[in-house]
Amino acid sequence: MNNPLPFRIRVAVPVPIHECFDYEVSAQQYSDIQAGIRVTVPFGRQTCVAIVVEKIAPDTPQSTQFKLKKIIQVLDEQPLIDQHILKLLTWSAQYYIYPLGEVIQSALPTRLRQGHSYDCITTQWQLTTSPLEDTLKQLKRSEKQRLAFEYLQAHPHGVLESELNLQGISTTTLKALEKKQLLEQHEVPIDFSPKKTALAENELNANIEQQQALDQILPLLHNYAGYLLDGITGSGKTEVYLQVMWQVLKQNKQVLVLVPEIGLTPQTIARFRARFDCHIALLHSGMNDSKRLHAWQQAQTGQASIILGTRSALYTPIPNLGLIILDEEHDLSFKQQEGFRYHARDVALYRGYLAKCPVILGSATPSIDSFALVKQGKLKHLMLNQRAGHARMPQMHILDLKIAPKQHGLSLILIEKIKATLQQGQQVLVFLNRRGYAPVLMCESCAWQANCPRCDAHFTLHTQPYQHLHCHHCGLIQTLPKQCPACQHPTLKPIGLGTVKVEEGLKALFPDHDVLRVDKDSTRHVGSLEKIYAQIHAEKPLILLGTQMLAKGHHFPHVSLVAILDIDAGLLSVDFRAPERTAQLITQVAGRAGRGDYRGEVILQTLRPEHPILHTLLEHGYRTFAEQTLKERETACLPPYRYSILIRSDAKNEQHNLDFLTQSAKQLIEDAQQSIDVWGPIPAPMQRKAGKYHAHMLLLANNRVLLHHYVQHWWKQVRSFAPSDIRLSIDIDPQEFG
Ligand code: ADP
Ligand code: ZN
Ligand code: ZN
Repeated sequence: MNNPLPFRIRVAVPVPIHECFDYEVSAQQYSDIQAGIRVTVPFGRQTCVAIVVEKIAPDTPQSTQFKLKKIIQVLDEQPLIDQHILKLLTWSAQYYIYPLGEVIQSALPTRLRQGHSYDCITTQWQLTTSPLEDTLKQLKRSEKQRLAFEYLQAHPHGVLESELNLQGISTTTLKALEKKQLLEQHEVPIDFSPKKTALAENELNANIEQQQALDQILPLLHNYAGYLLDGITGSGKTEVYLQVMWQVLKQNKQVLVLVPEIGLTPQTIARFRARFDCHIALLHSGMNDSKRLHAWQQAQTGQASIILGTRSALYTPIPNLGLIILDEEHDLSFKQQEGFRYHARDVALYRGYLAKCPVILGSATPSIDSFALVKQGKLKHLMLNQRAGHARMPQMHILDLKIAPKQHGLSLILIEKIKATLQQGQQVLVFLNRRGYAPVLMCESCAWQANCPRCDAHFTLHTQPYQHLHCHHCGLIQTLPKQCPACQHPTLKPIGLGTVKVEEGLKALFPDHDVLRVDKDSTRHVGSLEKIYAQIHAEKPLILLGTQMLAKGHHFPHVSLVAILDIDAGLLSVDFRAPERTAQLITQVAGRAGRGDYRGEVILQTLRPEHPILHTLLEHGYRTFAEQTLKERETACLPPYRYSILIRSDAKNEQHNLDFLTQSAKQLIEDAQQSIDVWGPIPAPMQRKAGKYHAHMLLLANNRVLLHHYVQHWWKQVRSFAPSDIRLSIDIDPQEFG
């Protein structure tokens, strides 16, 4: 007689294996366990924290003849992730052909991933004793500390650190006050009781276009619908979001708002806080583990009404989800570029579908992919063509750099315009998407160039905080050679413009004005960006100079002249998405101008003044550009008209790498017959990077189901027999080919 079957559960283990694993549990454990709970299991020689994905029905025949291992421990009483998120994660793992265990892992806060207890405590700050007479005098020198102190004076029972952070009071400030023995911190258990959401300030009167958008969205709040809110910069998209949010929040539902990495500024948070009196959970990659866990729990328990975060907030469990907003939907930071390469925009649409709630994608420069969804009837197109308030769109001009006389890389006409703008008391924004001093260092005599030994790339010359060469691709740093290594000539010359060099030039040309540089280097210190923004908001003529950090989200009300110095690389790139990115960048930068009462002007310096993208943008605007691009993609059978998957591989040996990919491709071509088009394998645009050779191949198909069917099967096989010196990755709907 057979032994009765043991009680079994199926778990996802965080390892790079696509399958889930079955374990044995006791009868008691079986009745306690639900899907979404964490358990610890023996796996190989290790112990892993795994998530239960399924309780196996007792009469299901065992799938293996081996004796199942027993789990070690059940970690939770209640599921951490609900059915809905589990479904979303399972779907994502299948769609992106990525191991479920690792997908689930990436969706959990680190502390839970590590097996820590769900119950947690948090920090609360309070004044020490009754404040001394001269306390405020002591604080006179630090405005931040004084404000923090006053805030806590007004809340004598103490305030949670997370709340203080949301109010713009940093932990550093609090710790400084603690040192002065004015504040003390306590550990308190977290109270997840919800708070009723209220409107803290009145809504603006929607203008006609905003009202038309609202009229489309508001009657259908209880079902899934996807919208593309396509509105020029300053047209009042945010006001539309806020008004839809209020209708949802009023019904005690939660709202998920996703913004690009750099879009999560104190200004964005302040705008939500000004409008709504409710719990806001903030989730982004810069948070420490315990803060992240706290915010995640606020969302997961239903306490937070608004969950505001970057890409990684997408998989947060939200029990009463009533609306998803994804702002600046064209932004590339919504696509994860390593490991589990999901696109938050696409997953957000599916999440809305599962949760039966609307999803609003907003942008001034919607992606070509989203326009295609509009054409297919999958998104409703809502347009805002007027700037809200009085502001008007700027005028754009192209300056031919081939014929224009220049100084410090700036054409003389541009220099005159900058002068005039400053004289009128207005601000200038100079955009150059290249940090450092110069992109190339070259020998004057023999044309030797300083190249990174590990990459197919030039070193960038940096002069701050000291002179050095820096490879922006692998991070390698070297000192400058004293002379040319090839011909011993003593003079090495910087070629081309970086932001630091332009800063030098602008300071020489306009010694009486501030030149504020905004790039990754100048904003490395916490708070430095905030300081710069504060200066920009003071109504004083100045020059703002920076990389694409300036092209996103921020409003510069006093900027009336925008100069775009060099976008030629984007015009020349072979990547089929390069025109889209370049057009978005130009339109976004241009949109920073003329937000206030005066009309802005945009000057674009280029060596390619005849380029068709520039003319379409100038004469007809971004939407016409998008229409044309869609037609071109259709003619060329490129995404979004075909589905695509990119297989990347890298290895120390160039030929070995290419041979392996070529060999693997044969099987796929044979299996899939005509249904998949295989481009490549070819060396990647930058073949050598950090000492390794990179290659890729692009798979294209008309039929998504067939493409996934063949590739899924093939990929699992390729992965299993790939030699260990070859690193492989799969990218579904790739956005970049680097
Ligand atoms: P977007 O998000 O499209 O860039 P915003 O929502 O930030 O635009 O709006 C730009 C400016 O116009 C903001 O200062 C906002 O307060 C103002 N604004 C938006 N809608 C209205 C309205 N209906 N009436 C008056 N001002 C508005
Ligand atoms: Zn030389
Ligand atoms: Zn390098």
